[in-house]
Parts: sequence; C-alpha cells; structure tokens
Amino acid sequence: MSDSTTRAFKVAVIGAGPIGLAAAAHLVRRGIGVEVFEAGASVATHLESYAHVRLFSPWRYNVDSAARELLQDAGWSMPAPDGLPTAGELVEHYLQPLASSSALAPHIRFEHRVLRVSRAGFDKLKTAGREQADFMLLVETPHGVKEVRAQAVIDASGTWAQPNPMGIHGYPAMGEVEAQDHIAYGMPDILGSRRAAYAGKSVMVVGAGHSAAGNLLALAALAAEHPGTRVHWVVRSKDLRKIFGGGSADGLPARGALGLNLRRLVDQQLLTPHQGFGVQSIEQTGDGMTVRALDPSLPPVEGIDEIIVAAGSRPDLALARELRTRLDPWIESTEALADLIDPNLHSCGTVRPHGHKELAHPEPGFYAIGAKSYGRAPNFLMATGYEQARSVVAALTGDWAAADEVQLDLPQTGVCSVDLAAPAPQAPAPASGCCGGPAVKDASACCALDEAEKSAGNAGCGCASGPAPAAKEPAQAVIPGRAACCS
Ligand SMILES: Cc1cc2nc3c(=O)[nH]c(=O)nc-3n(C[C@H](O)[C@H](O)[C@H](O)COP(=O)(O)OP(=O)(O)OC[C@H]3O[C@@H](n4cnc5c(N)ncnc54)[C@H](O)[C@@H]3O)c2cc1C
Repeated sequence: MSDSTTRAFKVAVIGAGPIGLAAAAHLVRRGIGVEVFEAGASVATHLESYAHVRLFSPWRYNVDSAARELLQDAGWSMPAPDGLPTAGELVEHYLQPLASSSALAPHIRFEHRVLRVSRAGFDKLKTAGREQADFMLLVETPHGVKEVRAQAVIDASGTWAQPNPMGIHGYPAMGEVEAQDHIAYGMPDILGSRRAAYAGKSVMVVGAGHSAAGNLLALAALAAEHPGTRVHWVVRSKDLRKIFGGGSADGLPARGALGLNLRRLVDQQLLTPHQGFGVQSIEQTGDGMTVRALDPSLPPVEGIDEIIVAAGSRPDLALARELRTRLDPWIESTEALADLIDPNLHSCGTVRPHGHKELAHPEPGFYAIGAKSYGRAPNFLMATGYEQARSVVAALTGDWAAADEVQLDLPQTGVCSVDLAAPAPQAPAPASGCCGGPAVKDASACCALDEAEKSAGNAGCGCASGPAPAAKEPAQAVIPGRAACCS
C-alpha cells in the first residue's frame, strides 16, 4: 500500500487481547496510526474469564517482541522466562502494563464493540473502485453507535465468546437451551468463586481438549475435599489415548502433564468416562438432568446437577459479513491456513511459519489474526499470533522483506509420538511416528515427517488418523479436499 506510511493511514485493530495489543505495539513501533477497539471495560476480557487457569506455555513464549521493547523502554522487567503464569497474571504483569503504557494507552478505546466492518460506500457485491475505499467500522460505544473509518483492519477478536454447544450435531442439543441455568461454558473457577455450585454435586464435563482436562482436574481436587462430588466425563471419541496427549514428549511440559494427570484420574476411577458419547439431548427431571447419547445403545447418564461444556469455540463470522473473505469451509480459518491446522489431520502442534500471505483475504487490507485466524481449530498458541501480528503489520507498511521472513519455533504437543494402537502405557511410549510409521527422530522430535512436509510448504503428514501405512508406502488422502499426507 503506497500511501500506508503517510500520517492519514490508520489501522483499526479489533480486540485488545494479547494478539491485538501485539499488533498495536508493532504498528506504534513503525509509526503507523492505530485505533484499538475493545468490547470490554479492560484488556483481554477473554483471558480474564479464566484468570485462575495456569497457562502451559512459559513467559518466554507469551510476550511479543515489539510489546516487550515498548515495555522495556518504560522500565518494565520481563518475568522469569521459564515461569508459568496464570491467565490472570499474564494480564496483570504484561497486558495491563502494556495497554496503560504511554505508547499504547492513547490508542485504545474500551467499551467499544465493533459490530460490523465494511468498505465505505461498498457492500460486498460492488467491485469497481472498492480497493481504494476506506474501511468503515460500525462501533457500539457508551455514547451510542458510531461509524469509524480506517485504511486497514486487523481483526483480533478471538473466538472464546462463541463457545461450541454440547450437541453432537454442532447446534445445541435438544434441551440444552432450556437447561442454561445449569450449564457453564469454558473454564469456570471451580476451586474458587464457583466452588459452591459444584461441591457435593454430580457434575458432567463435555469436551476433550486442554480446557476440559483442566476442568476435570479441578473437579477431582474438589471431590477430594467434598466426597459427595461425582465427576462424569463425556467425549465423542472412543479412544481416550490421543486425548491424553503427548505426555513427557510434549514440548511444553505443563501441557503434557495435563494429559498425564487426566489419565491418572481415569486409571484411579476418580471420574467416570463416557466414550463415544455424542450428546443428543438433555432432559430436566425432578432428580437432576438426564443426558442421552446419539448412539441409542449407550445408557443415558442420569442425575446430573451441573454441566460444564468445554468443547472449543468458533469465530464470529457476522463481523466481516460485508467483506470479501476466503475461509476454509469447515475450519473457518483463512483458506491457506486450514491445511496446516485441521484437527482431523494434525495434532502435533507444528505449524509451518506463516504470516501475511496465508492470512490475506480477497479484501486487501483486511486480516484476521490471533485465535480467530484458526477459526474452529484448537491448539492456537500466543507465539503463533505474535509472529502473525509482526508479519501482517510489516506487510501493511510495505516492508515486504520483513513481512515475508516469517519464523516460528513452536513447542510440539508430542501427540504424534504416541502409539495409538498400543495398550495404554504408564507414560506415553515413543513407539510410532505420525502416519503410523516408525518415529523419524525421537519422541521429543515428534512428527518429523510432518515438520518436513510443512517446512516444504505442504500440508503436513497428519497425525490424527491412527495406525496408517508404513512411512515408505504412499499415504492416502484421509479428508476429501485436503492434501494427501506423508506422500
Ligand atoms: C483456557 C485456555 C488456555 C490457554 N492457554 C494457553 C497457553 O498456555 N499458551 C498459549 O500460547 N496459548 C494458550 N491459549 C490459547 C491462546 O493463546 C489464547 O486463546 C489467547 O487469548 C488468544 O489471543 P487473541 O488476542 O487472539 O484473542 P483473545 O484473547 O480471545 O482476545 C480477543 C479480545 O477481543 C475482544 N473482542 C471480541 N469481540 C470484539 C468486538 N466485536 N469488538 C471489540 N472487541 C472485541 C475481546 O473482549 C477480547 O479482549 C489458551 C486458551 C484458552 C481458552
């Protein structure tokens, strides 16, 4: 964009979470005008909603480079790089100081919710001249709804506010809406402010990711103090071992420990797992809720007092409805990113370094970055978003050399090292590599084929399909519309 470095050029950033603030820091460092719109009354409202949760990535991965420079200019000291902050500590010790720094504070508008983004004078259909038109944002403020112009837009609004429902079909289960008073989504503070809601109750957790694991571990701790507490774990998968994760092979030990501890709870029968259980309906009875599976051969789970749904989240696509976006049909990420992150194929945590090219849409000047860039795919890490922010901002300023030179060193989940065909071991066995072949390097270098494929610009070899042909045999494409793996 030739006029991007002039004073009139302003980038609107949607969301003051870690990635939106990182984008703002990069823009400020480059002397570009920026206005950050944050729906909440303070920064990072999504992280605040699970402030009690200890993150599994240490500080060294959690701080953006430009943000760090801005903060250090103001006398801030980086916390110990290997320390694991809670989400609340990340906000308190990093994001709040960043947002209130003299460099960023004048640019952030709190309680400003962006409702729609479009091009001034152009609906989605109209083509001629649209690329020269400003972006127009419809923003809800404490003083009413107003329109704001910008020359580029970075959407870093995350997905956490749109949790997936518990229904197996992707829409709310029959009776889910009616039972809202007894359903929480995400990660309620089970051992803190929500303790009374769960102590001594029969509680069901729905979901198979890290958030579900965190909820189950907290409920088990609660049950140890309040023996009447019963914990049910509902997962649609029939095989729990992939859910247990890479254990000691995980590049982030705290993330690996989540799965190991969860496995211990199952082994010690401290919770009741319900595998292959896709929730079809919830019925409120005089004696708690009865939850039924789609598979009629599975017995219903009866007498449930409270449900916690931790089944992932999805992006708000209405925001950019009037822009020309190109999204993957089912991941709902940008199209070019989908092959790298489709959970039907990948669980290694390896993502090829990517930046403005993969994040671009047919609408020049508009980018969705951060958790939103992954759409419905899990396993997004802040470190990924910081590199996205750096590359996208460089592209907006026309610094193509910096924009193109993307680097990403992500700790892997180690899941690909786990032999899904083997009986459950005490600790995850480094027996087979991804795609079912022998491990190419070693456990901690899981999915080396996947890494090699992705580094070469391909989709990667996939990790989620269980035992597959030996690595030397050409692998089959497992998902129509996705590239073949390990070919
Ligand atoms: C429980 C949990 C634990 C996690 N642990 C880790 C970890 O250990 N390490 C790691 O690297 N990653 C972790 N992640 C993943 C990821 O890093 C976080 O989700 C991160 O918060 C994503 O940052 P973001 O800025 O993209 O989005 P968010 O943090 O979701 O921030 C989005 C912001 O946009 C605002 N917003 C939303 N809509 C609008 C709108 N229309 N207008 C204006 N503002 C809006 C929101 O209020 C929010 O402040 C974890 C995620 C979860 C859910």
